[in-house]
Amino acid sequence: MATFARVHLAFERGEGVWLYTADGERYLDFTSGVAVNALGHAHPHLIAALGEQAKKLWHVSNLFEIPEAEHVARRLCEASFADVVFFCNSGAEAVEGAIKTARKYHSVSGQPERFRIVTFEGAFHGRTLATLAAGGQKKYLEGFGPVVEGFDQVPFGDLAAVKRAVGEQTAAIMIEPLIGEGGVRVVEPSFLRALRELCDRNGLLLIFDEVQTGMGRTGELFAYQRTGVAPDIMTLAKALGGGFPVGACLATREAAKGMTAGTHGSTFGGNPLAMSAANATLDVMLAPGFLDRVKQIALLFKQRLAEIKDRYPAVIAEVRGEGLLIGLRALVPAGSLVDALRAEKMLAVAAGDNVVRLLPPLIVSEQEIAEAIVRLDRACARLDGGPAKPRQ
Ligand SMILES: *Cc1c(COP(=O)(O)O)cnc(C)c1O
Repeated sequence: MATFARVHLAFERGEGVWLYTADGERYLDFTSGVAVNALGHAHPHLIAALGEQAKKLWHVSNLFEIPEAEHVARRLCEASFADVVFFCNSGAEAVEGAIKTARKYHSVSGQPERFRIVTFEGAFHGRTLATLAAGGQKKYLEGFGPVVEGFDQVPFGDLAAVKRAVGEQTAAIMIEPLIGEGGVRVVEPSFLRALRELCDRNGLLLIFDEVQTGMGRTGELFAYQRTGVAPDIMTLAKALGGGFPVGACLATREAAKGMTAGTHGSTFGGNPLAMSAANATLDVMLAPGFLDRVKQIALLFKQRLAEIKDRYPAVIAEVRGEGLLIGLRALVPAGSLVDALRAEKMLAVAAGDNVVRLLPPLIVSEQEIAEAIVRLDRACARLDGGPAKPRQ
């Protein structure tokens, strides 16, 4: 189906932060497949782990115990607030799992009328019918029939509106701890703290959608760890399998108390092949120093980007984001900056609010950051209507 507005460009192979066309042309990949290939392309540890598992066992279904999934679940819980994990195959499915977990929690607590979830304008939670309703974007809901009931959207960052939206039917509040698709908008820790307090005071569950922000992207394994505010339920996907499709819904034992045998399921979820990818991704990310290096390189990148913004004030208005989830709010159409970058053989992806997202693999080197800055400089010069000004 023609559901994607694709660029006329295809790749044959990748290596680290580089993608190669069949003609051998090389592109600097600062999309990471939209925050998926956190370890770059063809990472040796992932190749080895998947290769080993591929020889042993791919899939058995959840009719049986899956020790590989129990192992990954244990590692995710040890590294987070969570006690339990449900594995699935995508971000939207992980969010569906979070919605069901929150609703069921209240149902088994004797308050089945509590099913509504407060979400934020500009949010993105996926493309299934319920997650579209949660995101509330009109252009995505148009033509797909009645909107799934049970989501109350409030303006981004508006605590008073959240308080007004919370009522006797409210089950949970759901937010991305850093808004990704909606334009790389940073959420103040004080706001998340206020949501936590509101949830605690009203018996609501707090859901963090970390499908995009999770798995090292912000310099912590999970973005919430930067804020000092822990959720009750958290979703993961994108980078969890380093490029292999896998999603997860994590929760405290209490929040997941309604999710008993038979209440939810997935044929593929947590299969041994997917789990080998997730486990290998965790091996790399949890190795000492990995996340510290992400923080360092992100700081360097942001400093260099600030220089570019100063050189091209008519092209870039603002550099924002956390870690290696960076947004350039553009003063030209974001799409034209993405196109100009691609002409310089550098890949980036647009987001809401006229933002260009830069999502390099977390393994990006200092030299590759320098290379990106050169290409970005040239792309901005194209849009600024002239050759690049000499560097100071
Ligand atoms: C990408 C994304 C999703 C949806 O993930 P899919 O794997 O495309 O279903 C959900 N939530 C957030 C925050 C995302 O960035």
